[in-house]
Amino acid sequence: MPTISLSGIAKSYGGGDHAVKNLDLLVPDGAFMCLLGPSGCGKTTTLRMIAGLEQPTAGTIAVGDRVLDSVEQGLYVPPEKRGMGLVFQNYALWPHLSVRENVEFGLRMRKVPADRRRARAEAALEMVHVADAMDRYPSQLSGGQQQRVALARMLAVDPAVLLLDEPLSNLDARLRLEMRAELKRIHEESGATIIFVTHDQLEALTMATHVAVMNKGELQQLAAPMDMYGRPANRFVAEFVGSPPMAIVEVGPARTELAGSLLRHVTSRPGNHAPAAIGIRPEALRLDEPPVSAWSETAQVEAVLPAGSSWTVRLRVLDTELYAVSYTPVEARPGDTVTCWTDQMHLFDGEGTRLAA
Ligand code: ATP
Repeated sequence: MPTISLSGIAKSYGGGDHAVKNLDLLVPDGAFMCLLGPSGCGKTTTLRMIAGLEQPTAGTIAVGDRVLDSVEQGLYVPPEKRGMGLVFQNYALWPHLSVRENVEFGLRMRKVPADRRRARAEAALEMVHVADAMDRYPSQLSGGQQQRVALARMLAVDPAVLLLDEPLSNLDARLRLEMRAELKRIHEESGATIIFVTHDQLEALTMATHVAVMNKGELQQLAAPMDMYGRPANRFVAEFVGSPPMAIVEVGPARTELAGSLLRHVTSRPGNHAPAAIGIRPEALRLDEPPVSAWSETAQVEAVLPAGSSWTVRLRVLDTELYAVSYTPVEARPGDTVTCWTDQMHLFDGEGTRLAA
């Protein structure tokens, strides 16, 4: 399956704002692409347009040279002719068919012989750990089990492109972790292209080869997960990706003492422009011995919050509160004076765009 390309895609449902605005997106063959963003940013609409369930109001969707949608040329290929498998958050299982029959359904439509149908359905159900419920009916399953049956039904057909809309949303934390690993394995073994919608940044960072962050119908950044985390293209991505979120310090004319201290450090370096805002990730704010080249300040410890494998420390740095996250035990106690430092700052201009640093 060649690259899926969206060019100048827009979607309006009538009414005021566009759900998707002028979207250009390339999904390379074999990618695991996560569309990530807050509720209402246009992720589902984008996925539904790729599936052919919605038609764009402008632009072109193509797979290699094959145009699936073109508003300008009046072209539209229906969902069943796109060769893509779909699993949506509101997966619909047939209530009158057993789990096994539900999974076999798509294969039956494709005229796969009975014995092969059976074997593929069983293998798919085993993959998602619901083989023991094969002869039950959807109403006898939990929401999480139903979601996994919907996933198995799609996997059994073995499509070259899988479109998934929050398919893990009904699973408990443990099963979700297991299914993330499972989906990653399925992706690596099958070589299929996966487009996955989620508002959960951890889900995107752990599974995707490419993350497309959207906000208000617009693409904010398309990058590999660690590049997105390490070099967010703008303030929106910086604050959306990462947990706890990045602290952003405004460097306006009426700046805080902390902003002044950070700015002095930034502008003392050759080649740096004066930013409008400076971001520091909590895990990049350190409490151990600072290297000479790093920015550092004296800070008061306000609270230490242990969380098993990490320690969150609330600090008062000059006139501002900042959080530090440490993955090694923190000895400091509230009231202690410590030195905090960082050598990883993210600089943004007045429009919120990342400055090269
Ligand atoms: P969520 O995570 O909540 O599903 P999303 O990022 O997937 O959000 P979309 O469902 O694509 O966002 O919605 C984008 C915008 O389009 C929203 O403002 C939404 O209200 C609007 N919208 C979506 N579907 C329709 C529809 N069928 N009719 C009218 N407006 C719609």
